[in-house]
Amino acid sequence: MAAGTLWRSCAKLRRYMPTYLASWNAPLRVFRSSKSEAMGNLLSDGLVYAPLDTITEEEMMMKEMVKKFARDRIAPLVNTMDASAKMDESVLQGLFDQGLMSIELGPEYGGTGSSFFSTILVVEELAKVDPAVALLCELQNTLTNKLFITYGTEEQKRTYLCRLAKDMVGSFCLSESGSGSDAFSLKTRAEKKGDYYVINGSKMWISFAEQAGVFLVMANANPSLGYKGITCFIVNRDTEGLHVGKKEDKLGIRATSTCPVTFENVKIPETNILGQLGQGYKYAIGMLNVGRIGIAAQMLGLAQGCFDHTIPYVKERVQFGKSIFDFQGMQHQIAQVAIQLEAARLLTYNAARLVKTGRSFIKEASMAKYYAAEVATLTTSKCIEWMGGVGFTKDYPIEKYYRDCKIGTIYEGTSNIQLGTIAKCIAQEY
Ligand SMILES: Cc1cc2nc3c(=O)[nH]c(=O)nc-3n(C[C@H](O)[C@H](O)[C@H](O)COP(=O)(O)OP(=O)(O)OC[C@H]3O[C@@H](n4cnc5c(N)ncnc54)[C@H](O)[C@@H]3O)c2cc1C
Repeated sequence: MAAGTLWRSCAKLRRYMPTYLASWNAPLRVFRSSKSEAMGNLLSDGLVYAPLDTITEEEMMMKEMVKKFARDRIAPLVNTMDASAKMDESVLQGLFDQGLMSIELGPEYGGTGSSFFSTILVVEELAKVDPAVALLCELQNTLTNKLFITYGTEEQKRTYLCRLAKDMVGSFCLSESGSGSDAFSLKTRAEKKGDYYVINGSKMWISFAEQAGVFLVMANANPSLGYKGITCFIVNRDTEGLHVGKKEDKLGIRATSTCPVTFENVKIPETNILGQLGQGYKYAIGMLNVGRIGIAAQMLGLAQGCFDHTIPYVKERVQFGKSIFDFQGMQHQIAQVAIQLEAARLLTYNAARLVKTGRSFIKEASMAKYYAAEVATLTTSKCIEWMGGVGFTKDYPIEKYYRDCKIGTIYEGTSNIQLGTIAKCIAQEY
């Protein structure tokens, strides 16, 4: 992103500053946790010696801009969006306006032109305030946009990426009622008829199906080849025969819509195949490997946001004549959670940096996702305990973080699936 654009964005955001605190009920010193520093002159013999959380000045500006945006524009709406299970239109529009739905897309598509590491920082910052909003940004950037940019024809890119940067949400349709972890046993079929395909089948759990303008649908175009028949189709929302079902009533990330999507004799021109026939399974694996680092960032931000809300309370709360923070029993627990948060951050950042180097990152991505989800579960549970009775009420955001974190062990590969992937990688190493 051009520096000027960033500064303009920051200036625009600053105008909204005073509104968030009142409705979020958070003390002024929350959200202090982001201690990353912009990179100075760290080159020595061609090698960069720097802590893993060192970021470029551009990344720092982006992070700061998102932090302000989240505080000012999202935080005041978090409770309402959670209670009503609906994402506020202004939040969605704000994400587009700030360039957060097209972080890595080039300016030729109206994108921000930034790095994958920036996406990770953005998702983390958003999740500190609302993990549901973070998911929207994460999926758009790491799945939908990435699929188009990696495998799309120039015409597909021009048609869809410009809209995905501006005003269109994309949904990724892989899972079905009978195929979750075993995703490639999917039953949705695409039958070739002349120069078009007819899709029939039913998808489940499709995130943001309610808002989506385009669906990337995995369907088997040649079942005799097994999973090697799986192909990715671009399906516009208004295509006849596409139905978005009733959204799920969920435990957490309630502001996200999660719906079944059915395809009844949906006619798709051959030109709407994304990439190559029969390569869909490869694309899905590749994208989900990257996406897992995004989910790790979501869980990391969630855990950090929860911790940031809790510690000031714990320091202020007095029992037995002193701050409850000063009891050694509390301090040791807090320190242990802080260590695990730091470890989750380093795993996540390292996996994200590996993506850029072009080296294998599959094991590291699974480790980051698995561990960040575990840490989010531990952190949110402990934060409720540390806050006592008030942590258990909706007067504070802690119980929401506790509900929101559970999804981290389920989507984009369950925790068991991550452990299986890690074990497979280890087996190859010995
Ligand atoms: C809120 C939400 C949003 C989602 N968004 C999307 C989306 O946008 N697009 C999409 O395509 N999908 C989406 N999903 C689907 C998600 O990816 C699946 O729910 C997930 O992959 C798990 O599949 P499942 O629910 O069928 O569970 P199952 O696969 O039935 O798993 C149930 C349990 O069995 C365990 N298990 C299964 N196989 C093994 C094994 N081989 N070894 C050990 N344990 C195993 C699992 O770890 C889990 O504990 C979403 C799901 C949710 C809940």
